[in-house]
Amino acid sequence: MSTIAQHLQDVHTRLAQAATQAGRASQDITLLAVSKTKPAADVEAAWAAGQRWFGENYVQEAVDKITTLKKRCPDLVWHLIGPLQSNKSRLVAEHFDWVQTVDRLKIAQRLNDQRPPHMRPLNVCLQVNVSGEASKSGLAPAEAELLAEQVAALPRLCLRGLMTIPEATDNSETLRAQLLELKHLFDRMQKKHPQLDTLSMGMSNDLELAVACGSTLVRVGTAIFGSRNP
Ligand SMILES: *Cc1c(COP(=O)(O)O)cnc(C)c1O
Repeated sequence: MSTIAQHLQDVHTRLAQAATQAGRASQDITLLAVSKTKPAADVEAAWAAGQRWFGENYVQEAVDKITTLKKRCPDLVWHLIGPLQSNKSRLVAEHFDWVQTVDRLKIAQRLNDQRPPHMRPLNVCLQVNVSGEASKSGLAPAEAELLAEQVAALPRLCLRGLMTIPEATDNSETLRAQLLELKHLFDRMQKKHPQLDTLSMGMSNDLELAVACGSTLVRVGTAIFGSRNP
């Protein structure tokens, strides 16, 4: 078995244990393999081990991999999880299946206008800044409901849920409070938008806590592909 396949199995074991602990069904939690900075061959190895959903941060790097792997691995599902600048929105609209980092109307409108007509609507999560750190992208929790209304009205986008990157802290109570804030916001928004099914939170180091707090999509890089070179 390849190292990547072994790591994937280990992550699935962690997820299953976390789900059991939380009294949740493990099939309600999807694993997104974060392949940023890693070569297409690593994505292919993960694909051979059954992984289908991949997350990337840098648009041009991702588009190169998507193009390389299109023929060999036709059923890959690609998520953008890095910040999105307006001048890259067309490439994103033409190549990705999901964008998890929508945090303003202007970028949502551009993605909507640029999504090619032969493709399915682009799945979208709103990125929410729950830590309030000025350096973080994402919109304030209080702004999320208005943007959700506006995005839900765009026909070439499909609003799926919320995403967050909490504070990088070892304090698990701080982390728990931030993850639960997103969960509560998600539950409130689901009442108005019953189609919402995705709460994207949790990474290699905090996936157990994220599952305990209601995550439905964990984004895992290091634990699958190993550490990244800066
Ligand atoms: C890099 C990245 C991840 C993966 O982080 P790991 O700690 O390597 O699991 C998850 N989410 C986002 C937004 C990232 O940029």
